Amino acid sequence: MNKCPNCNNTPISFFEWNRGLNAFSCKCQNCSWPLRGKIINIVLFAVTVLSAVVGLIVAREIFEFRNAIKGVLFIIFIAPLIIIGSGIGYWMGGYKI
Ligand SMILES: [Zn+2]
Repeated sequence: MNKCPNCNNTPISFFEWNRGLNAFSCKCQNCSWPLRGKIINIVLFAVTVLSAVVGLIVAREIFEFRNAIKGVLFIIFIAPLIIIGSGIGYWMGGYKI
């Protein structure tokens, strides 16, 4: 996570990063300055969603989990994709004023 352009501290925790649409905009946790997500945040968010959709399709087609409980399918195939994507987004992402 890039530093806050206003106070030069980490603007958001990883936990907060994963809540709602904080990748697009947030208030800095140190200086409360309103920040907008950099384009890389949006790109990585889109890639994460896309990979989750592809993961779901692959799980359905290759593993033929059509009759599996959706919650189990979600946890096994989709959650890791979202967690990895979110981690990469937090690592590479940042905010601008
Ligand atoms: Zn700040």
